[in-house]
Amino acid sequence: MNKEYRSNDLNGRCAEREWMVHTQLMSRDISDEAVINSMVRVPRHRFVMNDKQELAYYDTALEIEAGQTISQPYMVALMAQALKLKASDRVLEVGTGSGYSAGILSQIASRVYTIERHQELAKSAEDRLNSLGYNNIEVHVGDGTLGWAEKAPFDAVLVTAGGPVIPDPLLEQLAVGGRLVIPVGEDRGEQHLLRVKKTVSGKLIKEDLGAVRFVPLIGTEGWNDENGRLS
Ligand code: SAM
Repeated sequence: MNKEYRSNDLNGRCAEREWMVHTQLMSRDISDEAVINSMVRVPRHRFVMNDKQELAYYDTALEIEAGQTISQPYMVALMAQALKLKASDRVLEVGTGSGYSAGILSQIASRVYTIERHQELAKSAEDRLNSLGYNNIEVHVGDGTLGWAEKAPFDAVLVTAGGPVIPDPLLEQLAVGGRLVIPVGEDRGEQHLLRVKKTVSGKLIKEDLGAVRFVPLIGTEGWNDENGRLS
């Protein structure tokens, strides 16, 4: 892909992103129009480190600061699609990282609340999102396994790190009719992407969307350190 396409970014679209969306998302099982439009518009290269620019539109997770990763585009789209978002939805994201998935969600839903445990990541993500003019996102530094009680309930909750269990506070802060998507696994190396829906009667309906690999969810209701031991 030619870098020049990036400067030719008219109307928030870019040839590289169009290519990414066609070859990596639409050719697979991503069909939600709002998700596709958002993936075409949000400039992933702005969330990727300088020495990884060439890879920004390839279907791969990339290292960011603090030893963390920006997820592969397909996974971001799959999770956003799994949330079944409506334009009026308020979304909580746990694991801001680079801010890319928060940016994607912000183009689909009405408001995004995103929590990151690493202050340096939260700060650079916030700066990046502000510089792109995404003004419906609030970034918070803290332990996302506890959710964000002051802003609850949420119509959708996305966790972008893998934990040993589904944190109870996130289930409690999910609105009736809400959807939560989270990678869960007993082994920190591999998880299953779960979707939980809260019914009107308060019942939780769980679906397994397949095997995935994410960095560990570290916190009170997650693993207790980078090595993935339980709290
Ligand atoms: N959504 C990110 C993006 O688009 O770049 C990718 C996130 S990365 C795969 C997972 C992030 O979760 C890391 O930045 C990590 O520091 C963060 N994380 C892990 N445990 C957390 C917790 N308890 N609360 C908040 N963030 C957490």
